[in-house]
Amino acid sequence: MVGMVTRPIAIPLIDPFARRVKDLRISITDRCNFRCTYCMPEEGMQWLPRDEVLTYEEIARIAKVCVERFGFDAIRITGGEPLIRAHVVRLFEMLKPLGVDLAITTNGVKLPELARDLKAAGLSRVNISLDSLIRERFFAMTRRDELDRVLAGIDAAIDAGLAPVKVNAVVIRGVNDDEVVDLAAFGRERGVGMRFIEFMPLDADGQWTGAQVMPAGEILERINAAFPLRRVAVTPGHVQPADRYEYVDGIGDVGVIASVTEPFCDNCDRVRVTADGNFRTCLFAVEEFDLRAQLRAPGGLDADDLDDRLSVAIQGAVGTKWSGHRIGADNFVRPEKSMSQIGG
Ligand code: SAM
Ligand code: SF4
Repeated sequence: MVGMVTRPIAIPLIDPFARRVKDLRISITDRCNFRCTYCMPEEGMQWLPRDEVLTYEEIARIAKVCVERFGFDAIRITGGEPLIRAHVVRLFEMLKPLGVDLAITTNGVKLPELARDLKAAGLSRVNISLDSLIRERFFAMTRRDELDRVLAGIDAAIDAGLAPVKVNAVVIRGVNDDEVVDLAAFGRERGVGMRFIEFMPLDADGQWTGAQVMPAGEILERINAAFPLRRVAVTPGHVQPADRYEYVDGIGDVGVIASVTEPFCDNCDRVRVTADGNFRTCLFAVEEFDLRAQLRAPGGLDADDLDDRLSVAIQGAVGTKWSGHRIGADNFVRPEKSMSQIGG
């Protein structure tokens, strides 16, 4: 029939441990306007040369292959700070026709100016990072005095109709663990779901120690003492890294991401692409698969067999996905790249 587009039927991508892979996290820049202590050093971060960073066309092509060939149903854009990349709204316009759930993780500073345009371009949900409600502490943790702008960014996301708006807080013992209940109260007041994240050994400074990890169980105990909680049953087929709880009084919910103490590896459905086009099967993977080489091979994006080559590379990579990371085990190997270089 004239004008009919024929697409290959999507074939589920199954890893060696029988998990279906269908959630793509794409980092679109390794740069950032913050310098969170648990992520980056204050100075001296080596940025990728700009010509090594994938273009939006290249990113959209990888996304298209994952959705059309393998039936991925969710794409999250992250970084570095994704909203500092120029013309980021255009990327969402390019991804929108794929018809999958589009999300972003951001520090929120640029949301007051961008939230409405992002929503119109196809973004549906947002996670905004906020580790402290105390101005001096926020400054100490992010090395930027931007608490007010982040709070305005949360309001802007809500006003723009992005839903759900979630707020991520990395909890570090001795740094901000005394704010867990205040952050939970903040989430209840603003109608946003708080997500408390255990500190992971992915800081660029390599200063992480197990003693700084506030286990999710302890976080929940503290919240439960102030605002009683009950566990939310997991919806079959709907994988979330966060264990979710709702408040018994019906005012909202809260999640804990126990990546260190109780990793969700058994249910992991994620893969990642770094800003320079390396495919990773785990945050903690020590091996990467170069998709940029395929995208920039002779013929570039116009090559007839590009989708096939990308599919083969992605399938091959997923075939190496391991059962889970080994933080805490004697044989744990820390990845060379830090969180902002991988894309959290
Ligand atoms: N710049 C954006 C932001 O901060 O939301 C997106 C990228 S950031 C790397 C993604 C998430 O990773 C943020 O929620 C951040 O707090 C979290 N993160 C960064 N370093 C971490 C670490 N060492 N352990 C746990 N979470 C970390
Ligand atoms: Fe930037 Fe996000 Fe890392 Fe903070 S956590 S330095 S905002 S990339």
